[in-house]
Amino acid sequence: MSLTKRLAKSRLFTSITELEDQLAARTDTVHPVEISPKRFDIIQGKLESTEGSPPVRLLPCILQCLSGIKESFLTLAENPADPKTKASADFIQELELKAYALGASSIGYTQLPERWVFQDKAVLYKNAIVLSMEMDQEGINSAPSVACMKTVMETYRDLGRINNQLAAFLRERGYGAHAGHPLNGLVLYPPLAQMAGLGWLGLNGLLITPEHGPRVRLAAVFTSIENLPFNEGSDHSWVRDYCENCRICHIKCPPGAFYEDPVEHAGGQVTYIKNELCFPYFNAYHGCSVCVKVCPFNLRPYEKIKAGFTATP
Ligand code: SF4
Ligand code: SF4
Repeated sequence: MSLTKRLAKSRLFTSITELEDQLAARTDTVHPVEISPKRFDIIQGKLESTEGSPPVRLLPCILQCLSGIKESFLTLAENPADPKTKASADFIQELELKAYALGASSIGYTQLPERWVFQDKAVLYKNAIVLSMEMDQEGINSAPSVACMKTVMETYRDLGRINNQLAAFLRERGYGAHAGHPLNGLVLYPPLAQMAGLGWLGLNGLLITPEHGPRVRLAAVFTSIENLPFNEGSDHSWVRDYCENCRICHIKCPPGAFYEDPVEHAGGQVTYIKNELCFPYFNAYHGCSVCVKVCPFNLRPYEKIKAGFTATP
């Protein structure tokens, strides 16, 4: 049995599944609804793939990600028994400064709709602090490659660490917190991040952010703070009109995995990709990421693209 397959069966991996199940069994959590999506288990898929399992040299980083996921569950026991629910503007500013100092690229706030909680999962609070973190451009621009996969895994690890640290910071100040890890998250992050004002969903199914286009990973910290400065609207919706005229990600996707017209489901979930075409290529070619690399928003500044697009008659 290969090392990666042993890892998939390891106690660390199975204990995470148990912790997810324990949280989902609680009644004081935010649960999915019938129309909620099912999570694609990226770690399990990668580790159990018969092709292109991760190179052994990435295993330390994968282990660090798994440890971060486990920590995000184990630390729930450290939440205050009677957490505070109101925060001052000064505290929110302090929180943001800390997040940026730790390496976050952008922060927004929204309330988690139950429909974005994955089937059979749960999170502790509906108040969401949503974060993005930039992935190294050189690594992503080498996609598909081991170097690109390393960049992706390192960003998962580092954003997971940021979220665990922010959750600890909130607890120290008397608030309840649940760090949602970016890898194998419990909710569908891209639409949540759009709701939080961090960007807009592009035709590659990824969040296009003003800072780094789709070259980011996403995660959220769920908290007892009820008066977060929730986003009330953003002006990123023009991105979708731009996409309709672009479609470079569709053209360049090696296995041609994109639906020409995304499939809209009840409740607002949208499917952009034919999984049966994407996943085999994704597994065989180091997590692919070509649809991130080729996006104009990865290559040129958002404001320049916007100025050119909105000036077009
Ligand atoms: S490559 Fe083009 S169509 Fe695809 S997400 Fe980026 S801007 Fe939109
Ligand atoms: S990850 Fe690769 S195979 Fe999957 S949709 Fe993006 S470009 Fe296509």
